Amino acid sequence: MERVFLLLGSNLGDSRQTLSRAVQAIDQSIGNVVAQSPLYQSSAWGLESQPDFLNQAVLINTTLPAASLLDQIKELERQLGRTDTVHWGPRIIDIDILLYGEQIIQTDRLTVPHAQLTVRRFALQPLNDLAATMVHPVHRLTIRQLLDVCQDQGVVVRLAE
Ligand code: ADP
Ligand code: MG
Repeated sequence: MERVFLLLGSNLGDSRQTLSRAVQAIDQSIGNVVAQSPLYQSSAWGLESQPDFLNQAVLINTTLPAASLLDQIKELERQLGRTDTVHWGPRIIDIDILLYGEQIIQTDRLTVPHAQLTVRRFALQPLNDLAATMVHPVHRLTIRQLLDVCQDQGVVVRLAE
């Protein structure tokens, strides 16, 4: 069993509803949802002229190997209505694997910890709510320390429950 942190994001359609449906589906078919961060509204990153995102980090326990987990995530994104669009462009749902236990994984399909985690405030901030003291297995700093030194100027606002 691994503790896996996922980051959910949406900036098309009814994003609140999509995130809540995603969490339910993850719990039913991918791994027990142990904790959920609050929702955050984040300015778009990379391709900036698009709607703000809603983001949420989720902690699951799963027995799925990382490659199968990625397959299931891709399938769930499809079921939730994601049609493939521009890299970093607007999407109904994006689910990324931030951390897979303390494992370091580098394959052609998967980089874990997520390659952009440390430069994305919208990922570090919700992850910090769930795992502030967890040590990033590559950088050897805690999530709180990584958030403290993060240079990303993007605005990440916690939404009321
Ligand atoms: P984005 O980079 O905007 O999240 P996609 O969701 O379309 O774009 O992901 C593109 C590809 O990134 C996926 O098909 C997957 O193979 C790869 N990938 C590499 N590392 C990860 C990770 N940690 N989590 C999710 N996808 C990953
Ligand atoms: Mg993705």
